[in-house]
Amino acid sequence: NDVFTVESAKKIAGGSMTILFGKATQPIQRGGKVVQRLDEKRRKGLMRAHSATHLLNWALQKSRLGTAQKGSSVDCDRLRFDYSTRVEHLEKEQRLEKLKTCEELMKEFIGKGGETRVQETTMEEAKKIENLQSDVKEDRIGGACVRIVALGTKEDVPVECCSGTHVLNVNTIGDVVIISDKSIGTKTRRIIALTGNEAKECRQYVENVEKELKEGNDKSAIGKVGN
Ligand SMILES: [Zn+2]
Repeated sequence: NDVFTVESAKKIAGGSMTILFGKATQPIQRGGKVVQRLDEKRRKGLMRAHSATHLLNWALQKSRLGTAQKGSSVDCDRLRFDYSTRVEHLEKEQRLEKLKTCEELMKEFIGKGGETRVQETTMEEAKKIENLQSDVKEDRIGGACVRIVALGTKEDVPVECCSGTHVLNVNTIGDVVIISDKSIGTKTRRIIALTGNEAKECRQYVENVEKELKEGNDKSAIGKVGN
């Protein structure tokens, strides 16, 4: 069987037609039969990571650490999120404390669960949405149609214009762990975070290291008493 690996897709003609870009192992014949297969594991990891970027954007704004999204990229259970900030010069301890607050907000949100709501509307209607945390012009579908994605069913939820793939219920994100937060320019920072199993394994790893360090310290303390 010949394989055509889809690497990206672009909607044209107001979303009524989609062009697929990718690599084919053989020239594609006209009239050939095509079977679509999805890498389910990777897709689910992408869904968790993408929904988590919306959640992170929301948590950063709630904790007053971030003001707006500057860019993002998602991979399987891994995400990069660039954001603008007013608090550029924070003490390391204070920043860690704020990032911890972000993680807790996201964890709480995920724990409560709630279905993802997707709605297609006009540019004019989208502009009226009060808690919209993204720019309406960011939408890539084009034309008059804007896709609105709201995570969870409560009132204070992340709402963004987005054409990406998302979890059906926020509780399937499982967990979000921020593994780094660095300055990448004036008033701009970059967060790397993990979701799902990757996040779980990361927490487990940290726990193990802390335990080992504690045991090491305890042993050296005993040694001191013995001497
Ligand atoms: Zn999105």
